[in-house]
Amino acid sequence: MKIKFLGAARTVTGSCFIIETDRTRFAVDCGMHQGSDAIEKRNRDIGPYDPARLDFFLITHAHIDHSGLLPRMVQHGFAGPIYLTEPSADLVKILLLDSAHIQEVETAGKNKRLARSGLKSDALPLYTLVDAEAVAPFLKPRKYDEFFSPAPGIRVRFQDAGHILGAAIIELFIEENGSAAKLVFSGDIGRPNQLLMQDPSSVHQADYLFMESTYGNRNHKGESESLDELAEAIRYSYRSGGKVVIPAFAVERTQEILYSLHLLLRDGRLPKDMPVYLDSPLAIKATDIFRRYHSYLDGDTQEFLKNGEDPLRLPNLKLSVSTQDSVRINETEEPAVVISASGMANAGRIKHHLRHNLWRPGASIVFVGFQAEGTPGRRIVDGAKKIRIFNEDIAVGARIFTINGFSAHAGQDQLLDWLADFKTDSLQVFLVHGEFSAQEHLAGLIREKFGFPVTIPEYLEEIILKAGAPAEEIKPAAVAAGPVRLDRLIADLQNELEDVGGRMDDLRRLPADQQARIAELLRRAAANIGEIRDGS
Ligand SMILES: [Zn+2]
Ligand SMILES: [Zn+2]
Repeated sequence: MKIKFLGAARTVTGSCFIIETDRTRFAVDCGMHQGSDAIEKRNRDIGPYDPARLDFFLITHAHIDHSGLLPRMVQHGFAGPIYLTEPSADLVKILLLDSAHIQEVETAGKNKRLARSGLKSDALPLYTLVDAEAVAPFLKPRKYDEFFSPAPGIRVRFQDAGHILGAAIIELFIEENGSAAKLVFSGDIGRPNQLLMQDPSSVHQADYLFMESTYGNRNHKGESESLDELAEAIRYSYRSGGKVVIPAFAVERTQEILYSLHLLLRDGRLPKDMPVYLDSPLAIKATDIFRRYHSYLDGDTQEFLKNGEDPLRLPNLKLSVSTQDSVRINETEEPAVVISASGMANAGRIKHHLRHNLWRPGASIVFVGFQAEGTPGRRIVDGAKKIRIFNEDIAVGARIFTINGFSAHAGQDQLLDWLADFKTDSLQVFLVHGEFSAQEHLAGLIREKFGFPVTIPEYLEEIILKAGAPAEEIKPAAVAAGPVRLDRLIADLQNELEDVGGRMDDLRRLPADQQARIAELLRRAAANIGEIRDGS
């Protein structure tokens, strides 16, 4: 069988692994690529997915970096079943609609800007609300721990990954040409002792493991330390009359933060007169789905709910649904906690809250989730002095907190503990869903501690798995058929240059800062061409 890595390869987002056996072609996950422009361009490149030739999808969980390209697959001819757990199906529906809405709004904004500059304004959204709605009929919910067979020679079982509501580890049993192999896709592995989720299930046997490595190079601080840090942000901003702004993913992070605030309120560390705004219609809907699936939550939470104590419903919680509700939050001068999406501050209402609060010395910005390279969240965490939001430079004057003890991902030691449960001598490990430096670090530890061979696949790499033999890697350059056509690349470049040259009048009309940026890009392009000339 052959596996192709279409995302989460030496990066965190875009999870998608296409598996081809002698009888079927299918994929595990279908995530959106998020981060730099170069990475997000992959969302438009539908060719390698070849959706019309995919028989089915297995989705580990609802997060957009695992499900966000499903509408594009259906748009381009995929018409098979999409298997996932019941809560994942409910969450995927609302998350895809939200994602489509963001795509539509951002594309409309971009077209407006282009039109104002007198440029061509015909950008299309990645997908629309209609495309997102078209996914629902293909969703086929399955329960944890039950086997099902989506195609001849394939058996599948979902296990609780302990990451977010309904998240699964996928066990995949494949029979091909008379031999059998077991593949395990970890999906995102949860942090043990999360407030709402069960701990991740152990798996004991596999031939090939595809394992996430988001925190391959670091451990999280303890839970109580994280709670203390959140309390400190609240204390600081309450005293200085500022707001505590928490960018949080609508699913799981938000509910975990609500739960934590519930604990702080009980301990008297969240003032009773400090309102908590949940400013995300999506998070409000997701919280309702959490309540609907009691049996998927951990024991303590189920106990709480049984006793009529709802840890997700604070007395001072204010739900803000409409845009006017959201705008009003920043018209008040009172200290408050504001939870809003997106979690990496690259889209959604959180951008407005950052514009209003990031520059204020009394405010706190509290990051509680992973910040991917290239996102505004990452730049703030990395100590940027200024951030560009809605075409305006906003100074960083607020106190910045990075609290990773609320993470929904296992830290380094916890990943190694989960791996230690495999009782097998011949496991081949493939690290995915991590930045390369974190993966290299984790790979070293795995080789040293367990002696398993570890591979870190690249984007578009293919791997051939044969029983009893080491995995055979085919690197992306070799995947491209035939020799590289340099003449064609040079012709493309000449066309692009002519195109840019033809727009000189448009470019001259752009504001000075944009012209300066273009000048910088041109200088870099010239340097690249100089390098090619000198090297040949
Ligand atoms: Zn996730
Ligand atoms: Zn993920």
